[in-house]
Formats: sequence, C-alpha cells, structure tokens
Amino acid sequence: MKCFTASLGTETNTFSPMLTSRQSFEEEFYAAPGRHPDRPTLFAGPLWAARKRAKTKGWEVVEGTCTFAQPAGITTRHAYETLRDEILDQLRAAMPVDLVLMGLHGAMVADGYDDCEGDLLARIREIVGPKVPVGAELDPHCHMTMKRLAAADVIICFKEFPHIDFVERGEELAELIGAMAEGRVKPVASVFDCRMINLYPTTRQPMRGFVDRIQALEGRDGVLSISIAHGFPYADVPEIGTRVVVYTDGRKEFGDRLAERLGREIIAFRDDAYPPILPIDAALDRAVARNQGLVVITDPSDNAGGGAPGDSTFVLRRMLERRIGEAAFGPIWDPVAVRMCFNAGEGTRFQLRFGGKMGPGSGDPIDAEVTVTKLVRDATQTFGDALAPIGDAAAIAVDGIAVVLISNRQQAFGTDLFTNLGIDLGAKRICAVKSTNHFYASYSRMAEEVLYTSAPGTLTLDFKSIPYTRVQRPIWPLDENPWSQEPAR
Ligand SMILES: [Zn+2]
Repeated sequence: MKCFTASLGTETNTFSPMLTSRQSFEEEFYAAPGRHPDRPTLFAGPLWAARKRAKTKGWEVVEGTCTFAQPAGITTRHAYETLRDEILDQLRAAMPVDLVLMGLHGAMVADGYDDCEGDLLARIREIVGPKVPVGAELDPHCHMTMKRLAAADVIICFKEFPHIDFVERGEELAELIGAMAEGRVKPVASVFDCRMINLYPTTRQPMRGFVDRIQALEGRDGVLSISIAHGFPYADVPEIGTRVVVYTDGRKEFGDRLAERLGREIIAFRDDAYPPILPIDAALDRAVARNQGLVVITDPSDNAGGGAPGDSTFVLRRMLERRIGEAAFGPIWDPVAVRMCFNAGEGTRFQLRFGGKMGPGSGDPIDAEVTVTKLVRDATQTFGDALAPIGDAAAIAVDGIAVVLISNRQQAFGTDLFTNLGIDLGAKRICAVKSTNHFYASYSRMAEEVLYTSAPGTLTLDFKSIPYTRVQRPIWPLDENPWSQEPAR
C-alpha cells in the first residue's frame, strides 16, 4: 500500500479584521515533507495513523507538507494557492499511489475560494483518478459542502468538542480508506442538512449522550462511520450549517434514513445544545454571590481559536469598574503591551495601555496603573497532551485582578496559562477566560461553577446579528422554521 498524506488547515472567520497569510501558516505550524514532529498534531491525525501503519502493516508512506494557521480572517489567495499547489506537486511526484489521506480543518475560505477543501480535494481527485480512495479528516466546525463530499470517498469529523479525539478519528479514516483500497468495503455517503447554525459542546447533555449513541451505531448494520459536521457560524459563505454524514457499506437508502433520523434529533434539541448565556453583569453577579471556590467565566465572543483578535476588553473593563478583586483574566493578545512589560521588568509599577486595539469588536483599550508580576519568554500552555506556544508573556496586576498578556494569539486551553505565569488560581474567586469550549476540560477540574457570557465581538453567539449576505436560506435561527420544506440531500 502506497499512501500519500498531507495537511492544510485553518478556520476562516470572514468577519475577523485580520488576514491569514502564508506567514500566518509558517509561524503557527509548518512541517515540510518528512519534517512533521514525532507526536500527533491536531490537523495531521491521518499522517500519524499512516506513520503507524508504515511500522505495523508495511505501508509505504509519502508525506507531503503539513501546515495550519491560527484561525483569523480571509486567507490570502497567495497563501492558499501556493500551499495547495505545493501539496499537489508533491502528490504528482508520488504517483502512482494506492490511497490518499488528508488532514484538513474544513472551514478555510480564501480570496476567490468559498470552499478551499472542496477545491483541494477535487484537484486531488483529478490527479489520482476515480479509483484511488481519497479520505479526509475534518474539524466538526467545518462547512460540509457537496463539492468536497463528491470529491472524497470518506470524510470523518472529530466527534468531540473539545477536540480530544483527533487521533482516534484519524485512525478510523486510515482503517476505512485502507479497507477500501483493499476492496473490502464500498463506502456510500448519505447526507442530511439540518438547516441550522448552532454550537454543540459535547461536554454536556444532550450532545454528550447523542455522540455516545452514534458511536455505538458504527460498525453495525453496515454503518461504517457517522459524522456530525457542527458547522462554523462565522463565515459568509453559502453552505454553512449543521450536516449529518453517514457512510454505509453500500446501503444508501438505509444510510439516508439514518442520517435524516439523527439530523431530526439534533433539530429537536437545538435550544439546549449550548449552555445558557448570561449577560456580563449577570455572570459577574452570580460569581460574586458564590461564597466559596472558584467560578470560571468564559467569553466565547473573543475566542482567538475562532478567528477573533483575542484582545477585547469588555468583560475585564466591567470587572474593573465593579472593583472585583481576587480575580484572574486572560489571555489578552497584545504583543506591544508585552514588550512594554519586558521593558519595565518584573516588579515595576507603571502606566500601561493594553488590549482593545484591533477594531470595534475589541472594545476600547484599557489604560491603567499596572504592576508587572512575572515575565516568561516563549511561554506555553497545554491543551490535553499538546503544548501550545503563547510567545513572550507577561502577568500584570491591575486593581486586584491578575491579567495574562500574550504575544502569540491564542485562546485559553489549560489552567497553566495562569500558573506558568505565577498566578495561583486556587487563591482566586473568579477566573475569566476567552474560549468557546476548549477551556472546559482543564478549567472545569478546578471550578466550582462554569458560566458562559457573551460580550459584543467577532464571535457573537447572537447568530441573528451576524451580517450574512451569502448564506443559503432558509436556515435557523435566521429563519424561524426552515424545516417546513423538504430538506436538501
Ligand atoms: Zn473546531
């Protein structure tokens, strides 16, 4: 078995004020062929699975480029086309191959390309021809377009949000595409469009139980794989929204019925999928009222992992105005402020302007007298087993609130975002972070209670307020009842 594998990914927030360039990829993660580190990375699950099969099954594996950029705004045409063509050239040079395994994100939008993954997979199909199995692993926050479904034989999404299962899903993809290459299975896709924009953390019910149930359906009755493409709400492209994808071993009608049944279940629990969102003051009231333990408040609206700048100040400003002490806040992406802190040195008290710089969605900068409590060069935080670099980082104390400033744009993943900078969360009453749900696995271990708020920002949870112009209608919640019509297949 000769396998070609590569990965290319980012999650494009078309409403974000920052472009994604070739440099954005090279700075975040870029591994030339053969240079991928000896550990799994989020969008190269298929490469990891292929390497394993090189050892255990004697596969010949040709590795192409693996690269991904921290989510931000539209990808430049130059970045997408050069990275795409680099990978396609590598594939051409590797031909003939028996199978192709791609690690993609699935919500990459470039200047001139609404559906980068559809474009890339279609070009891969052109090169390998109709008979070579092509598979892709995607983040569930993707646009599951008809173009990519037609171009690939199998697409598998991570089932978990937070995405802790990317290695397992990459394994499944390699297993399925490998079986297909050996002529043991004939995967057929069934797709159901839920016509919904929504978020679905799998750390809470009803989604937790739903994911467990669909997992139990796999491997029986000819069901090869079930993916729930949650969709990514922050893109103004036609095919956004939640779609169910079922692959069966040649049982198309059965698969269609199953996809529709599962899709209708998701539609039924749409109002309970995401935790209740409290206004900022209500979240702070509730946190202050709790007499013991740590309350963690997250603000997904400025989640860098969804393409937001990560420098908004709405929540912190309210905490300062209300004189809330014994608190921590982070991260705020502000490389200039970090530099000022390094300039000042640990222990120095001085007047600093920080945050609120990238645009109206970031709020106003905060001007305050701060004390630099800790400085760390090339700091990191953990996300499960993975290490996420946050660049040079500074901890500052502002009126009883410990704030983490970072220079490599990122959301809050692990509580070591704070502890690595000398901030003891055990001694705090309130910790406010920027993240949609990836923070949850780590912070919930320390928290007495976890609350969700939503400031104005690039990733507002009020989907109706997003200025879409190109999204296919009807779709909930922009339209009250899109299900009165026959759903798309
Ligand atoms: Zn995701």
